[in-house]
Amino acid sequence: MERIGAHSHIRGLGLDDRLEPRENSQGMVGQGKARKAAGLILKMIQDGRIAGKAILFAGPPSTGKTAIAMGMARQLGADVPFTMIAGSEVFSRSMSKTEALTQAFRRSIGVRIKEETEIIEGEVVEIQIDRSLTGATKTGKLTIKTTDMETIYDLGTKMIDALSKEKVIAGDVVTIDKASGRILKLGRSFARSRDYDAMGADTKFVQCPEGELQKRKELVHTVSLHEIDVINSRTQGFLALFAGDTGEIKPELRNQINTKVGEWREEGKAEIIPGVLFIDEVHMLDIECFAFLNRALENELSPLVIMASNRGKSQIRGTKFASPHGLPVDLLDRVLIVSTRPYTEDDIKQIIQIRCQEEDVTLTENALQVLTSMSSQTTLRYALNLISCGQIIATKRKAEQVDVEDLRRAYSYFMDEKRSVQWLKEQQGNLMFEEVDDVTTTLN
Ligand code: ATP
Repeated sequence: MERIGAHSHIRGLGLDDRLEPRENSQGMVGQGKARKAAGLILKMIQDGRIAGKAILFAGPPSTGKTAIAMGMARQLGADVPFTMIAGSEVFSRSMSKTEALTQAFRRSIGVRIKEETEIIEGEVVEIQIDRSLTGATKTGKLTIKTTDMETIYDLGTKMIDALSKEKVIAGDVVTIDKASGRILKLGRSFARSRDYDAMGADTKFVQCPEGELQKRKELVHTVSLHEIDVINSRTQGFLALFAGDTGEIKPELRNQINTKVGEWREEGKAEIIPGVLFIDEVHMLDIECFAFLNRALENELSPLVIMASNRGKSQIRGTKFASPHGLPVDLLDRVLIVSTRPYTEDDIKQIIQIRCQEEDVTLTENALQVLTSMSSQTTLRYALNLISCGQIIATKRKAEQVDVEDLRRAYSYFMDEKRSVQWLKEQQGNLMFEEVDDVTTTLN
């Protein structure tokens, strides 16, 4: 069974070549201005002109801020990193707030590593198994005595096979039996590292067509700065990447890695790919985090930071002061603000139709009409949630299509925010913990 996420229908920003928003495309409807702004930002990312830029999507709940950010992510190339966090995620007991933000920043910077391989007849050729994460390579040597592609390919494959079975590490020289593909001799040079050994091999064999004596091919891999940090961190090791439990990483290590990557860059071996860091509910960050963001955005190795907030004027966490969107003015001053507006009824109808297709649900024409007007009175998200509830109710009465009655029942089972607030007001005094001032203010 395929699981369907809230934004799984979004496949891009739905813009044409001139970055004009199409009416209904790639799962996107309406919100033209914001989509166009997002398209311009994407263009800047693709041109590599984005260091230190920050964007804020500001608008009421359910107006597509996250959806547009997802659209941007889908449209970026596969090797442009896109990291998504919610403001509240940086508050954890296992690491400091600034460490969590630093990791998110470094996850959003890609390092594209290039390797060039040559095959020349009669010469010794190195077959490399990807170890670029650590700058080391698993290397085997193969003497090419033929230009017959089949033979070369066959030998190469055997060698790669043998290399990945035998725990060969950087600098080892390997001699392979041509016929059986078994390793005959293995010369050790470097000390063993558990990390190099345990990592899976990702190998590309260079093909050399018959008659062509020399062939160059570039092998390219992209990893994030954070992955390089974790793999090189003695205390964590690469397994932490899978567990997600990376802990804090020492600043000295990060400096060393920055220097190393800088060297690779100068030697033309690596390219920096600034990606995107999306911080949803950015108002959940506090003043210390905002100070960090201000500084981090000035770093040369900064990704594009996209933030989203549905708050109007609200308190900056960690202070007594209020500010627009809950962000301090010095940070607001450096961000480009893109506003999202409430949808028209026609937009809502189309979004509901797209979601029905995505969730494989058929609504009757009347039900579609009712759900659209329900959405105007409640929120888009609430209406979208009723689609699957409605379907379960319709299935129970063995109907193929969801009708008005199914939606009405779903509406009576599940409250939207306004009705929930009303209910709380009616229940005053019957629930626990109502005396906190802040809460009562919000409810009123
Ligand atoms: P919040 O401020 O509450 O986080 P948001 O502005 O981030 O809200 P989304 O989560 O993006 O709102 O939108 C709510 C739902 O509506 C999601 O399922 C989203 O995919 C869908 N949606 C929003 N805008 C569009 C759009 N323009 N086209 C298609 N689907 C959309």
